Amino acid sequence: MRIVVAVESEEAKKRSEFQGKIAQLRDFNEAFELVKSAVLAKFNMHRAGLSLILQVMPSNLGAYHILGSNVIVVNRAVLAFIKEVSKSQEHYNSYLFMVLAHEYIHSFGIVDENTVRHMTYDLCRDLLGDNHPSTKMAKDDPSSLYPELKTLFSSAPGRFGSEFEVVKNFDRTNMSYIQ
Ligand SMILES: [Zn+2]
Repeated sequence: MRIVVAVESEEAKKRSEFQGKIAQLRDFNEAFELVKSAVLAKFNMHRAGLSLILQVMPSNLGAYHILGSNVIVVNRAVLAFIKEVSKSQEHYNSYLFMVLAHEYIHSFGIVDENTVRHMTYDLCRDLLGDNHPSTKMAKDDPSSLYPELKTLFSSAPGRFGSEFEVVKNFDRTNMSYIQ
């Protein structure tokens, strides 16, 4: 009995540590480093040399990865919207972590949307627990936490912007590994 309790509290401790890391993320690069270490720990998968681009896109689209490329494109309009409606920096960071994890998993050549969604959910649930905002958004979609997103899409669906902002210093830690 004592052993069971000890194991449970060890797991709870790890989760609260990881939750703390999400809450304290300061930028895209930190968020991505955390995503990479999480994916490595959970799935033993690692790759380097990705670029992050911000683009205005229709608001039903959070992000995309161009298959076979090293580019992740995140919808800056949705990002700005979530920042505005988020109850806290932690909530915004939780969205960022979830969306980057999803696209990072795609970047391993995993095309099937359901597989990626399931892996992202598994990752978040393991590391953060069922009640964390990242896990909730990975389970359904961000509009489960932010129903305003649906309103936004029906009132102003948006369009693809022609401007691309490349995020500086993204995935820089592993630059020396690029072929
Ligand atoms: Zn996807």
